[in-house]
Amino acid sequence: MHADRLARLRASLAASHLDALLVSALPNVRYLTGFSGSNGLVLVTADDAVLLTDFRYATQVKTEVAAAVRVAIEPTTLWGRLWMELKGLPKVEVIAFESAHVTHQDSARLVGEGADGAGWRWRPALNLVEILRESKDAGEIAHIREAVRIAEHALGRTLPQVRVGMTELDVAGILEHELRSAGSEGFPFETIIAAGARSALPHARATKAVISAGDLLLFDFGAVSGGYCSDITRTCVVGRAPDARQLEIHTIVREANASASAGVRAGMRGRDADALARQYIERRGYGEAFGHSLGHGIGLEIHESPRLAKSAESPVAPGAVVTIEPGIYLEGWGGVRIEDDVVLTTEGPDVLTSFDRTLIQLG
Ligand code: ZN
Ligand code: ZN
Repeated sequence: MHADRLARLRASLAASHLDALLVSALPNVRYLTGFSGSNGLVLVTADDAVLLTDFRYATQVKTEVAAAVRVAIEPTTLWGRLWMELKGLPKVEVIAFESAHVTHQDSARLVGEGADGAGWRWRPALNLVEILRESKDAGEIAHIREAVRIAEHALGRTLPQVRVGMTELDVAGILEHELRSAGSEGFPFETIIAAGARSALPHARATKAVISAGDLLLFDFGAVSGGYCSDITRTCVVGRAPDARQLEIHTIVREANASASAGVRAGMRGRDADALARQYIERRGYGEAFGHSLGHGIGLEIHESPRLAKSAESPVAPGAVVTIEPGIYLEGWGGVRIEDDVVLTTEGPDVLTSFDRTLIQLG
């Protein structure tokens, strides 16, 4: 599996006339080697791949790192060790680095002490590994499927516990406890619990705001399994039956979500996928109130390639796992979003999330 990923990376390096890639983004390190620690650099050349990490991970690498990768445990500085490794590879001259993930301080090291005079030519590169990560293999999809299962199980346990008078933070605490109990390795992003008018803030954080009868309550959260994330949003109403406006807006979002989930295909441009939901919401008169893009890839990171957005020109790769998350946000009134996770197989979309999408009444 990792050997295959390295082979695909090497083909793309050769096509770009690069002798090597220095991988410093930790999700890319994990994807290529299996290593999940917090300190690591990987150097990939045409016939070698070496992971540099430190003493804290000497035991962990033995169980995690793929056979196709050499491991060097470096007691002092990873950069010093990198220069040593590179000096042992005289044919390596043109080396790419991940320009979106290297700090200015580290980019100065590439031409600074230890590296000067070596004749290496550093090339900034974008997305060489991220592009490979867009298509998920069966093992990755199984991890995401499990992360979805955990998230939905936790939501199912949380909803019956919600009451009028609780704060958003109370609900976030219950949900995060249920996520952990169900097996989530962590939280892929800060859990969003937004009540009443605050649900109109698409990225609201949970606060001490108290939930009142008749409030919309928006849950946007995920689970992590095997390092892979899920991302799901449901919007409920608390303490009494939904009113006509809440039902109307919720129904429009649900129908936009359903038509995009059914219509999205691998090979489609991101902008055409986005339009599946956007045109529907526009026709219903709420186009202005859907101010973000339709979705994003999920995997080792919560936001990764591809983007399903008005400005996304590239076609979506087969095997991508994307979110479909249309929403309508009305300042001062509230917001509704419904988010599902979908695998784009060559046969069509496979919706991984199955939690009730109706406007559920809580409390
Ligand atoms: Zn989300
Ligand atoms: Zn999302």
